[in-house]
Amino acid sequence: MTVFGAEPEAAYQRPALSKSFLTSAALQPDDIRLAATAEDVRVELGVRATGLDLASRRLRLSDGGRDRTHAVDGLVIATGAIPRTLPMRTPPGVHVLRTVADAIALRADLAHKPRVVIVGAGFVGSEVASSCRTLGLDVTLIEASAAPMEPVLGPEVGTALVGLHRDHGTLLRLRTQVAGFTGRDRVTGVRLADGEVVPADVVVVGVGARPSHRLAARQRAGAAGRRAVRARPGRSRPDRGRRGRGALAASP
Ligand SMILES: Cc1cc2nc3c(=O)[nH]c(=O)nc-3n(C[C@H](O)[C@H](O)[C@H](O)COP(=O)(O)OP(=O)(O)OC[C@H]3O[C@@H](n4cnc5c(N)ncnc54)[C@H](O)[C@@H]3O)c2cc1C
Repeated sequence: MTVFGAEPEAAYQRPALSKSFLTSAALQPDDIRLAATAEDVRVELGVRATGLDLASRRLRLSDGGRDRTHAVDGLVIATGAIPRTLPMRTPPGVHVLRTVADAIALRADLAHKPRVVIVGAGFVGSEVASSCRTLGLDVTLIEASAAPMEPVLGPEVGTALVGLHRDHGTLLRLRTQVAGFTGRDRVTGVRLADGEVVPADVVVVGVGARPSHRLAARQRAGAAGRRAVRARPGRSRPDRGRRGRGALAASP
């Protein structure tokens, strides 16, 4: 078995990135590593799978401009998700949070005691808000719905979360849309749809993630839909040795 990973880092606990890794400058990537892989599994890091030649059963790979192929009998596509971004110009100082590299960059910016604005009060946005308050930072959380996570968890949980954020000193701007960012060389604020500008030294955009399905969709592997690999049994193609897994897979 060979595992190819596009990130240069060995597997790590992604959930820590918005929590302990953000609040503790002493934590290094090695401190959040997952357990070592079994000895008979080869792991190749910094290698991106770019395509699959079904006829010859070869996976196309690219590492730093060097292209090659790898023979496969069975293939699991577990390419996860990538953060959604806002369709607007984003000056330096506007972050997303998905990888340990993202977290290191954000943590470095937070060390300067900035005013932080977070766009999106989903799991990642809410956790970053909480971590920033733990660091004693001035935090504004902007959310398009009436309450954090209300669309998925309902109004009761949403109202409870409003209370929690406010009790911990986070300024909430609800039912609020973002129209853009101010600042050229460095972000200076977040412009709202009504024209108001909320001052910011650091912005974190936490507006969800979308399946990283390019490899699957390109090859129609695992009965790939347009947005993700469908995980429904019978819809995947075990006969052809391809399966979608994890954040990539969509259960109907
Ligand atoms: C900040 C943060 C906090 C989170 N906190 C929690 C939590 O508290 N609890 C919880 O349950 N979940 C949490 N999650 C969600 C959780 O991390 C995901 O559900 C989980 O990472 C999904 O795992 P996965 O293996 O499917 O995808 P991923 O973890 O996204 O892994 C996919 C990997 O595939 C690699 N890849 C992509 N394309 C290619 C390619 N073409 N070739 C080679 N490699 C490729 C990517 O680089 C990535 O390393 C959090 C996520 C984030 C970002």
